[in-house]
Amino acid sequence: MVKMIPDNKFITQSDVPGPTREEIRCMVLCKAEVSPNDVVVDIGCGTGGLTLEFAKRARKVYAVDKNINAVNLTLENLKKHGLEHKVSIVKNDALIALKEIDRFDILMIGGSGGDLPSIIEEGYRKLGDSGRILITSILLETPVEAIKTMKKLEMKIELINVAVFRGKILERGTMMYSNNPITIISARNRGKER
Ligand code: SAH
Repeated sequence: MVKMIPDNKFITQSDVPGPTREEIRCMVLCKAEVSPNDVVVDIGCGTGGLTLEFAKRARKVYAVDKNINAVNLTLENLKKHGLEHKVSIVKNDALIALKEIDRFDILMIGGSGGDLPSIIEEGYRKLGDSGRILITSILLETPVEAIKTMKKLEMKIELINVAVFRGKILERGTMMYSNNPITIISARNRGKER
């Protein structure tokens, strides 16, 4: 069953970005092909939007953020939804955190703070045989940078741009309104194709 957590069921905080919108979370999970045996690393967990969805479906999740308010908020949301037992929270910079995690199947990158190529390279080294890297981005520059690095690593790359319009049901009709478009990059090693 595909059931996502509604946006308004997350505790939010003005100084922490997220949660990634419901429809975008849905597509990310699909592209990630997450399964119950997977170990996931979520870099830039923010509000925990993606962390919680992965926690519901994977074996284990490492939620990493350099911002103390973000890791605290992610933990609050995990507790609210009874998922904290599935997740190790790491308050650290992505590159330091990645060095301390052994092996994983999915690397989710929701924030990189200018270190994207190194995060991809470091993460790639630790991906299991059918490993995948997912990136969500609101900036135009991020996919350009990601693709350059992933090409160098000879990964198989897919990129989609998603704009979701939601309908607001009013008395006199239905009004559509939009959220920012998001780019979702998903990649796997050609040698690691299933
Ligand atoms: N996916 C999240 C939102 C991510 S917002 C959700 O659905 O709720 C991006 C986050 O990345 C921010 O909280 C920011 O602190 C974090 N971040 C940015 N660069 C980072 C880095 N180098 N290491 C760790 N966290 C980082």
